[in-house]
Amino acid sequence: MIEFTNVSKKYANGVIGLHNINIQIESGEFLFVIGPSGAGKSSFLKMINCQEKATGGEIKVNGIEITRLSRFKIPKLRRQIGVVFQDFKLLKKMTVYQNVAFALEAIGLPKEEVRQKALDALTLVGLEGKLLFYPNQLSGGEQQRVAIARAIANNPDIIIADEPTGNLDPDNSIQIVNILKELNKQGKTVIMATHDHELIFGQDCRVVTIDHGTIFSDEVRGYYENN
Ligand code: ADP
Ligand code: ADP
Repeated sequence: MIEFTNVSKKYANGVIGLHNINIQIESGEFLFVIGPSGAGKSSFLKMINCQEKATGGEIKVNGIEITRLSRFKIPKLRRQIGVVFQDFKLLKKMTVYQNVAFALEAIGLPKEEVRQKALDALTLVGLEGKLLFYPNQLSGGEQQRVAIARAIANNPDIIIADEPTGNLDPDNSIQIVNILKELNKQGKTVIMATHDHELIFGQDCRVVTIDHGTIFSDEVRGYYENN
């Protein structure tokens, strides 16, 4: 479970990223975080894996209070959280397979386990046929699927995706949402930020709207009945 209690984020330059956020996200939930650019969506997601530190309040992730976590304990937190970005962040000089395997090698897994986990993750996103392609030989949607494979390869229980469809056309965007929903069906907690209202119309999911650094609304089936 993820629990925010009165969480605020004030950046070094004085800008308020988040103001008094209270929210509980149960294990196994799928949640859209929606709001305009600058609303605080990225700030919110960055709190969860300590990419940015809260300046007020408390955040618990799987029972651990993380706002005062020592930097030695952050890697352990991050191993429970897969992260997907808008701009994919793939390594251009590595193949599809290497991009996923590299992340697993970096945490010290043995070679055979790396191979198995990388292949499983790439199969799950439908890219088992493109292992030796380089990122620039793939479509944007395929690149994002590699990034998702990398994020899930070591079986984290939480996936946070920050505007993962921001660089994709509508068809590829839906595909990415469907993959994230499939991962959620397999038991993962998935939190996806987007400013794209169209994309989430008709999705039977919890929708949290953030604006000016606060939670403006939090609805169990946010955009479902409106469709
Ligand atoms: P969103 O993801 O919804 O676009 P952000 O969380 O990126 O919103 O930004 C929320 C506010 O915090 C914005 O005003 C943004 O300019 C500001 N902000 C984000 N990151 C930083 C930073 N590192 N330093 C200063 N201000 C920041
Ligand atoms: P995102 O919305 O995904 O955070 P941005 O393009 O807003 O992406 O931010 C890129 C980087 O710049 C991030 O590290 C973010 O923290 C930082 N940043 C964003 N807004 C500001 C700001 N107003 N001042 C300083 N840094 C910022």
